[in-house]
Amino acid sequence: VPPSPVAKRVPPTLLVSRLYQPSNLKDVGQDTRLSGEMSCRSQRLMQQAGLIHPSNPGCYYYLPATVRSMEKLVRVIDQEMQGIGGQKLDMPSLCSADLWRTSERWDLMGKELFCLKDRHGADYCLGPTHEEAVTTLVAHQAMLSYKQLPLLLYQITRKFRDEPKPKFGLLRGREFYMKDMYSFDMSEEAAYQTYESVIAAYHRVFARLGLRCIQVQADTGNIGGKLSHEFQLPADIGEDRLLMCGSCSFSANVETMTSDNNKCPACQTGILRESKGIEVGHTFYLGQKYSHVFKANFINSQNKQSVVEMGCFGLGVTRILAAAIEVMSTDEGIRWPGLITPYQVCVLLPKKGSKADEATASAEELLHILGENLPQLRGEVVLDDRTQMTIGKRLKDAARLGYPYVIVVGQGALEDSPRFEVICQQTGEAMFLSKDGLLDLL
Ligand code: ATP
Ligand code: MG
Ligand code: MG
Ligand code: MG
Repeated sequence: VPPSPVAKRVPPTLLVSRLYQPSNLKDVGQDTRLSGEMSCRSQRLMQQAGLIHPSNPGCYYYLPATVRSMEKLVRVIDQEMQGIGGQKLDMPSLCSADLWRTSERWDLMGKELFCLKDRHGADYCLGPTHEEAVTTLVAHQAMLSYKQLPLLLYQITRKFRDEPKPKFGLLRGREFYMKDMYSFDMSEEAAYQTYESVIAAYHRVFARLGLRCIQVQADTGNIGGKLSHEFQLPADIGEDRLLMCGSCSFSANVETMTSDNNKCPACQTGILRESKGIEVGHTFYLGQKYSHVFKANFINSQNKQSVVEMGCFGLGVTRILAAAIEVMSTDEGIRWPGLITPYQVCVLLPKKGSKADEATASAEELLHILGENLPQLRGEVVLDDRTQMTIGKRLKDAARLGYPYVIVVGQGALEDSPRFEVICQQTGEAMFLSKDGLLDLL
C-alpha cells in the first residue's frame, strides 16, 4: 500500500498503520495449560488489541500501547507516593540468599522463589518482594537520626514469583510490576500514622482512576506483621473471597476469619455477605519483625539506640492495569480509566477515493489545531491512515482499543464550514461538530 499523503507531516509514531500492535488470539490459552482454566475478558481483549503478547507461562511482552498506559499509571502512583513523602529508589532484582536465610524466609517461601546460583556457587533469588533488601540498606546507615523519620522508600520494579498457576494474563503473572513502599518510623504510634497516610494515598490512586475499591482486613501471610489490609476490586473472576457486613462497615478477606458462621464479628448483629475480589493492593504494619533481625536502628531523642518500626505497602501495577480493563470493558472493546488510556483520540481518514488529498489536508489541519489549542493532547492523537480499509472495519478496531474519542474525517469535513463526526466511546454517543465544537468537547 503506498503511503498516504499525510504520512509526511504526522510523525510515524502517531500513524495507526505504523503502530506496533500485533493481535494474537492464538495463544490466549497459553497459561491454561498450567491452570486448567479458561482465559478472562482482559486477557482476551489485551491480546486481541495487540497490547500484550504471551511468551512463556505467566510472562508477557508488554507491547508499546501497554507501556504508554503503564507509564501514565506510574505517574499517578508517583504523585501520590511522593505526596506523602515517598522517595523513589531502585533495588537489585538479584537478591542474595544470605539475606533471605537471615529472615528465615528462604525456606518459608518454598517453591514460589525463583532461585539461581552464580558461577561461584552462591545462592540467589529473583526478588519477589524487598523487605530484606531495604531493611539491610537502612541498617547500613550509621547514626540514622529520629529527625530523619518517618522515612518512606519505594520502587516500581519487576517482581518474580514462581506462581503454581499463572493465569488471566497480567492478573497473575510470574514476572510482574509492583510498587512496593517501605516505611521506617520512630514509634508504634508514628508507624500507625504513616500506615493511615498510605491507606489514604491508595484510596486517592483508585479514586483518580475511577475504580471502586474495597478496603478489607487481611491476613499477614508470609510477609508477617501485626496489621494488614487489602484493596480489592470487586469482580466475578477475582480469586479472593470477601465478607462484608450488611449493617456496619466491617469487611474482611475470608482468610482472616476463624469462625465461618455468617454473623458479623464487629457489630454482632449484621449478616455477612460474600463476594469476590481481585487483590490490587496490600498494606502491612510490620512492627520490628525485619528491623530487629537486620538491626535497623536509629538514634532517638534521648540519644539512645532504638529499633525502627516498619510498614510495607504493595500495589500491583500490571495487575491494576488488567483489572481495570477487566471490570470496565465490554466484550467488544476495552474501556480505560481516562487517566491511563494509551491515546486519547483517534482520527480516521476516509477510505481511499477521489477526494483523498482534500480529506488528508483537512485531517492534517485538524491535528494541527488540536495540538495548538489543547497542549494536553500533544502526542495523544493518532491518525488512522489505513485508507485501504473501510471506515466500518477501522471503527471496530478503534472500539476494540478503546480510544475515548474517535473522529471521522468524512464528506462533511470538506464543506465550507467543516463538520466532523465524533464518537464518544465511553457512552457510544455520536455527534457532528465544528472545529470549535470539537475543541470544547475535548
Ligand atoms: P495473591 O494473593 O493474588 O497471590 P499476594 O497476596 O501474594 O497476591 P502481595 O505479596 O500482597 O501479593 O503483593 C502485593 C501486590 O502485588 C498484590 O496486592 C497484587 O496486587 C500484586 N501481585 C501479587 N502477585 C502478583 C502476580 N502474580 N501477578 C501480578 N500481580 C501480583
Ligand atoms: Mg501470592
Ligand atoms: Mg493475597
Ligand atoms: Mg497480598
